[in-house]
Amino acid sequence: MAPTLSSDMTTMRRAAVVVVALASLLAGVAAAGAVTFSATNAASSTAGGKRFGRDIGVAYSRRVLSDASSFCWKTFSQPNPGSRKPVSSVTLVVEDIGGVAFTSGNGIHLSAQYVGGYSGDIKTEAAGVLYHEVTHVWQWDGQGKANGGLIEGIADYVRLKAGYAPGHWGKPGQGDRWDQGYDVTARFLDYCDSLKPGFVAQLNAKMKGGYSDDFFAQILGKNVQQLWKDYKAKYGG
Ligand SMILES: [Zn+2]
Repeated sequence: MAPTLSSDMTTMRRAAVVVVALASLLAGVAAAGAVTFSATNAASSTAGGKRFGRDIGVAYSRRVLSDASSFCWKTFSQPNPGSRKPVSSVTLVVEDIGGVAFTSGNGIHLSAQYVGGYSGDIKTEAAGVLYHEVTHVWQWDGQGKANGGLIEGIADYVRLKAGYAPGHWGKPGQGDRWDQGYDVTARFLDYCDSLKPGFVAQLNAKMKGGYSDDFFAQILGKNVQQLWKDYKAKYGG
């Protein structure tokens, strides 16, 4: 009888471990602020929509929305929901539109035409685009007063740090102005963050209530024009 009892005990211990694991999982969901993520393919009858369904899919997209949100909170040093933008859901709709993608509020719109025409690994490209757009959902915009180039630069900075910088991006040190936007500003912000790790998180936090170029000097002790000169000099520009 002893072996049976031992076996039962093992089963009970395993069951207890499963219960604890489930409880931790549920607690993890609650700690994430109960944000919901959804993805819809509203262009499934088009060639691009069909490619989305075949090569990317709504299940993968939902996972990227969730992973990218967690990555934003980490990058912005916002471990608690109270410090984040009050957003309870992030949605993605694939539509028969031009361009690449855009975000309005908590809604991301991805172009099925872009998906259909892209030559290369569309799954990785879509993930990179979604990291950029998800950043727009979570970043502060200085009450609408922030420099547009900086807003796009922060979105591409998050994409860069997540490992989704495409091969065609400019290299570090390239560009004419710090607020040129996108990859140019993302690379510059990466330089600023290397001077003081957590710089981008601090900059984003300051952008909750308004905006001034002086935020760079307040955090790094040098104004943004001087930082850009130093950055260009470092790469021989
Ligand atoms: Zn953008």
